[in-house]
Amino acid sequence: MLKRPLAPGLTLYRDRRFPARRHAARHHRYRTVVGIGGNVGDVRRRFHRLAVALERDRRVALLQSGPILKNPPFGFLEQADFYNSVLELSTSMQPRPFLRYLLHLEQRFGRKRPFPNAPRTLDLDILFFDGRRINRADLQVPHPHWNERSSVVIPLAWMGAHR
Ligand code: ADP
Ligand code: MG
Repeated sequence: MLKRPLAPGLTLYRDRRFPARRHAARHHRYRTVVGIGGNVGDVRRRFHRLAVALERDRRVALLQSGPILKNPPFGFLEQADFYNSVLELSTSMQPRPFLRYLLHLEQRFGRKRPFPNAPRTLDLDILFFDGRRINRADLQVPHPHWNERSSVVIPLAWMGAHR
């Protein structure tokens, strides 16, 4: 494991699964980038369990992961720092079934929703989906404000630069 301070409040972690690239064993129709985050319990361990679960799931193929960025919370500030990364996946699910699939995974990893921006074990957001623009009540893609958040931009830029 490698830990590197990037800037005040920002630390980059690298280990065996983050960042990583994989050869796609399965071929799916669409490519998507998912932002992952959390700030309750052992988040980095949870990210690893998530990566293993995705690797074993035939409905998706995990193509790439970014490094993990530790960064301060926004919105509700009285909570622990967040760990964030990004995953590039392929899937043949359509965007809304794919969103339901992600929400289901959040549940499986202990997600509760007491109030907006509350501390969370695991947050899974669709950042991009096959170059599409979606504007529905329950799904906006690209994810709003993705380009204003270092939690997204830094792991994403790292992944983009190493492909
Ligand atoms: P946030 O991620 O903004 O903190 P939540 O994780 O609690 O909030 O998500 C609340 C809702 O956001 C989800 O139930 C989903 O319907 C909606 N949503 C809209 N666009 C997206 C997206 N691109 N990815 C994930 N969820 C989204
Ligand atoms: Mg979310």
